[in-house]
Amino acid sequence: MDPVHALQDARPTPFWLDDPGRPEPRPALVGTTRCDLLVVGGGYSGLWTALIAKERDPSLDVVLVDGHEVGWAASGRNGGFCESSLTHGLANGHERWPGELARLERLGEQNLQAMEDAVKRYGIDCDWERTGALTVATEPHQVDELHGFAELAARYGTELTPLDAAAVRAEIDSPTFLGGLWDREGVAMVNPARLAWGLKRACLERGVRIHEHTPAVALTASGPGIAVRTGYGRVLAGKVALATNAFPSLLRRHRPYTVPVYDYALMTEPLTADQLAAVGWRGRQGFSDSANQFHYVRLSADNRILWGGYDAVYHYRGRVRAEHDRRPETFATLARHFARTFPQLEGLRFTHAWGGAIDTCTRFSAFFDLAHGGRVAYAAGYTGLGVGATRFGAEVMLDLLAGERTERTALEMVRRKPLPFPPEPVRWAGITATRWSLAQADRNAGRRNLWLRSLDRLGLGFDS
Ligand SMILES: Cc1cc2nc3c(=O)[nH]c(=O)nc-3n(C[C@H](O)[C@H](O)[C@H](O)COP(=O)(O)OP(=O)(O)OC[C@H]3O[C@@H](n4cnc5c(N)ncnc54)[C@H](O)[C@@H]3O)c2cc1C
Repeated sequence: MDPVHALQDARPTPFWLDDPGRPEPRPALVGTTRCDLLVVGGGYSGLWTALIAKERDPSLDVVLVDGHEVGWAASGRNGGFCESSLTHGLANGHERWPGELARLERLGEQNLQAMEDAVKRYGIDCDWERTGALTVATEPHQVDELHGFAELAARYGTELTPLDAAAVRAEIDSPTFLGGLWDREGVAMVNPARLAWGLKRACLERGVRIHEHTPAVALTASGPGIAVRTGYGRVLAGKVALATNAFPSLLRRHRPYTVPVYDYALMTEPLTADQLAAVGWRGRQGFSDSANQFHYVRLSADNRILWGGYDAVYHYRGRVRAEHDRRPETFATLARHFARTFPQLEGLRFTHAWGGAIDTCTRFSAFFDLAHGGRVAYAAGYTGLGVGATRFGAEVMLDLLAGERTERTALEMVRRKPLPFPPEPVRWAGITATRWSLAQADRNAGRRNLWLRSLDRLGLGFDS
């Protein structure tokens, strides 16, 4: 039977948000309010910014507004791989900042540990599991690539455990696995929506004033501060942190730096004990395969399998739209790939299928900026790896707003911005050519065509 039948009852909504524990939204802002710091955006980026601002100075008056609900966007619908990498993986970091990557790796490890500590300190019930993650090879050429990757990691002091086919299958059993690498320390699995909701609660307990269904529609200088117009009111703030991810920036000049690229995922029903035994997976690690078009896969707390990735879809003129969250052809592709990977789970059904926008930039890792004489900070561009890195980005925004020179603000990664995307239609043509070429490379034992090699030379190359 076509594996697509397993999607018949799947609800087109993110599994993590379909949770009876989803908190009620806080009332929208009506009228004018004043504060020391306004945070725009209630995903991880904004929530960490508000929370850490209060930790640094409890007397600071902090307001956070979200145009919809806290945690509804990428932060509530992602794979929940919380990685220490701040650079969208070691290979990308090595490509761009070899001189400071050792420092970036250390800061990333500290950041992940600080997250784990905060989850404990605030009692955030988000199924945090420090399982690590596997990268698996499913094509012969990827086995060699993984060896090369382990050597690169060792140069930066990260020990990854190499696994041959038998060893990787002893962890998670799939006939498609030819080898793997296990990062035991650098990744935690988390229930993403509950992390966001827990951060929201922690913010409220610390006195952050949160207004949901409160879109910020315009930002202007106002005396010594900044005025931000919202749906029903206005915030007069000393300083502003913009944490709006893939949504259009309130600062027009920042818009060309990111494009929304859609990523999709499926969730199965919970596995029975026998089904789980047929896969093994006692270590509960997340895993991803190592193609350019890769899948990311993990268990939920109630032993469902999240199966996401592969397609990365850019729509002409790049808008964030609810209708892009559903893409039956991608869901069908994912269901077929799942069946090929886990033939022993034939008959297992999917309960949820969804998508969401990723704020892709040309260097695939976050960038930062100040505007309005240092009164407005901005962080975006996390691409597909923002669950952990957004906390670091929050610290950077607060350092920048404080005008402090810290180890973070001294980084070249923080001081320099990526190249912006060209305007349409060149943007669409370039992204489409890149996607097509990456798929071709996967079919050609990883060989990169002229287009990808040219991008690599320009420092714009994507390598999963
Ligand atoms: C399907 C999917 C899977 C992913 N998997 C992973 C993963 O496994 N690991 C990983 O590290 N990363 C993953 N990511 C990326 C990760 O989820 C993001 O990098 C991260 O959540 C970004 O957080 P954020 O706060 O910047 O953005 P968001 O969570 O998108 O929050 C931005 C918020 O800003 C609000 N907003 C925007 N504009 C305005 C405005 N003008 N006024 C008021 N509010 C506004 C929005 O309503 C939204 O709530 C995934 C992303 C997707 C979509």
